[in-house]
Amino acid sequence: MIGLVKFHKPKLVVSKCIEFEACRYNGLIIASPIVKTLKNHVEFQPICPEVEIKLGVPRDPIRIVEIDGEPNLIQPSTGKNLTQQMNSFSDSFLNSLKGVDGFILKNRSPSCGIKAVKVYPYPENSMPQKKGVGLFGAAVFEKYPYLPVEDEGRLKNLIILENFLTSIYTLAKFRKLKESYDLHDLIEFHSQNKLLLLSYQQDLTRKMGNILAHQKEYEAEDLFQRYYELLLKTMHVPPETPSNINMLMHALGYVSDKLSREEKAFFLDAMEKYRQGVMPLLVCLNILKAWVIRFNDEYLAQQSFFRPYPEELMPVTTLYMK
Ligand code: SF4
Repeated sequence: MIGLVKFHKPKLVVSKCIEFEACRYNGLIIASPIVKTLKNHVEFQPICPEVEIKLGVPRDPIRIVEIDGEPNLIQPSTGKNLTQQMNSFSDSFLNSLKGVDGFILKNRSPSCGIKAVKVYPYPENSMPQKKGVGLFGAAVFEKYPYLPVEDEGRLKNLIILENFLTSIYTLAKFRKLKESYDLHDLIEFHSQNKLLLLSYQQDLTRKMGNILAHQKEYEAEDLFQRYYELLLKTMHVPPETPSNINMLMHALGYVSDKLSREEKAFFLDAMEKYRQGVMPLLVCLNILKAWVIRFNDEYLAQQSFFRPYPEELMPVTTLYMK
């Protein structure tokens, strides 16, 4: 039944200056209610790339400067070019990670930033000429192109946050079952995540099903790896709101003939609020879930679509609602 679905703690790498240590260049720490709440629910691995390359706290600011078309990490006050050090730290750190499910990085940082990082034409006295990615952030994308990677600023967006939570908990569950290479567990995983995966990408979900249908053609390790690669790609592109609404309507179809007109109207109203971005998807899922329990629908009851991440995290999804 729905209430018995077990979650595993996702393993996330996080920029250390977000809620963990006052290691910013100016000696400050960044507050993030989301990361603070997640501390109790995920296994964080905090890292500060700038401290790791021995820049110290506090330190003079650094910036990305484009030289010969390539991003370089420069400290204008000393003239130091830190590109080599940062790249080499990033490679060795990322290669050392075992079983990571995602990243939360500091927005706009020349090291950790994943978007909108200022890129300058000269080390000093210049205005940024464009926006790019921090050096550590770029290395994360290169090493883990399909893992969930967000910054604490983007996680203030409800849809991005819900998708991030859904992805990291699904990947954490798969990581756990991969420990035993038990085919029965994998088939059960696919079945329980069917509606959720279909809401992301129907074609890739079918390919995953095909792999399971031809299980005898693969060694267990190979089978799990192929499945994992498709799972990552499936969850890499967040479902559009209409796709989630389709799946909600699909699920409603299982119970609608047992509902009153008022109950259906209540649900459609919640779904409209979700469509407008003023209500989390989880609220609609919870309404459906109550009916799944009431009508004892066994197929829907096992679907992770109704409970993609722990309910204790629901308050975090309302932190930044309009
Ligand atoms: S943004 Fe990254 S490099 Fe900068 S202080 Fe935070 S953790 Fe360190």
